[in-house]
Amino acid sequence: MLDYIIVGSGLAGIAFSEVALHNNKSVFVFNNQSQNSSKIAGGLYNPVILKRFSEVWKANEQLELLYPFYQNLELKLGVTLDYKLPLLRKFYSVEEQNNWFSASDKPNLSKFLSTDLITKKWNFISSPFNFGEVLFSGYVDTALLVASYKSFLIQEKSYQEETFDYSQLKIHTDFVEYKNIKAKHIVFAEGFGMLSNPFFNSLPLDGTKGELLLIKAPNLNLEVIIKSSIFILPVGNDLYKVGATYNWEDKTNTPTEAAKNELVDNLKELINCDFVIIEHYAGVRPTVKDRRPLVGTHPMHNNVHVLNGLGTRGVMLAPAMATDLFNHIENQIPLDKNIDIRRIKNFVSSFCQNE
Ligand SMILES: Cc1cc2nc3c(=O)[nH]c(=O)nc-3n(C[C@H](O)[C@H](O)[C@H](O)COP(=O)(O)OP(=O)(O)OC[C@H]3O[C@@H](n4cnc5c(N)ncnc54)[C@H](O)[C@@H]3O)c2cc1C
Repeated sequence: MLDYIIVGSGLAGIAFSEVALHNNKSVFVFNNQSQNSSKIAGGLYNPVILKRFSEVWKANEQLELLYPFYQNLELKLGVTLDYKLPLLRKFYSVEEQNNWFSASDKPNLSKFLSTDLITKKWNFISSPFNFGEVLFSGYVDTALLVASYKSFLIQEKSYQEETFDYSQLKIHTDFVEYKNIKAKHIVFAEGFGMLSNPFFNSLPLDGTKGELLLIKAPNLNLEVIIKSSIFILPVGNDLYKVGATYNWEDKTNTPTEAAKNELVDNLKELINCDFVIIEHYAGVRPTVKDRRPLVGTHPMHNNVHVLNGLGTRGVMLAPAMATDLFNHIENQIPLDKNIDIRRIKNFVSSFCQNE
């Protein structure tokens, strides 16, 4: 008898698996390649919402878990994942500069917003109003994490590349059974793939498609992340990630010409040197209407759980949400009502009516 079956090995599934293993629990992971989000993400983490200069929900708590979480993974997997890089917000006016400095006076933001105006000039980037620096930012190489974690699980004989067949799950009072595997619990972490899951597909996961480019710009020599209408993120060897778009209609993983043109147009407004596009990626972020994660236990089955809705911020949210779910299952610690799926009244009441 295992402790956990986990379905999905993106940021959510990996984070839950790590928390479980760290607490001496056993896991077995089923994963397919139907969703791309974690594989193609920019991987940025940043405690400030840069449109309105406000704090990301529970940023402090999430950052506290983020550093040791990715550091432990680096040691375990023998790869570099966490790159702590300054993130500079390009200002477009004196008014924006003033808004930044008033925000940096607020107690919850003063830790994250530098009060030094960054006046450094980069060749090929026009910045008449200079930049503001966000502290405690960086990026995680999520593609490498997903690939290395899969290798680790395979080595541990704890991974199966397979589309989970929900109809074959048998739920007993004290355990679940899937094909030849028995486990005390099952955690579903399928990202936008959750919409095929009959246990949780009535949760309000709406999905937001995002596209991203990998470009090569040999003359740019940028060593920081810059955020304007897009972000540009140096990943080494003159390569940069440029992203990302937001599309609420199209729910496919297919790269589109329209998004590519949008990114290229925005990039040309930010930099004026030559570049070539090396790759073009697309994926669907598991976004939720109320912008909070979907975490919790099925109303009818106390051994069936969900970890989803990481939206646009999976890198920061995953360690914290996985820890909360684990503590909820193992130690009966109540979930914050902002993330608990029980806040979705229609979802809960649909099961009460069926009873
Ligand atoms: C273009 C883009 C840029 C982004 N940039 C950032 C960023 O800079 N910073 C940030 O924090 N976040 C970013 N995100 C968001 C981030 O990628 C997500 O929050 C996160 O990856 C979600 O992780 P997940 O594990 O919930 O879902 P996923 O990554 O989608 O993982 C789910 C996994 O489950 C598998 N699966 C689904 N159904 C089944 C099934 N039935 N059987 C077996 N396996 C199944 C899928 O194939 C997949 O491998 C970005 C997203 C996109 C699209």
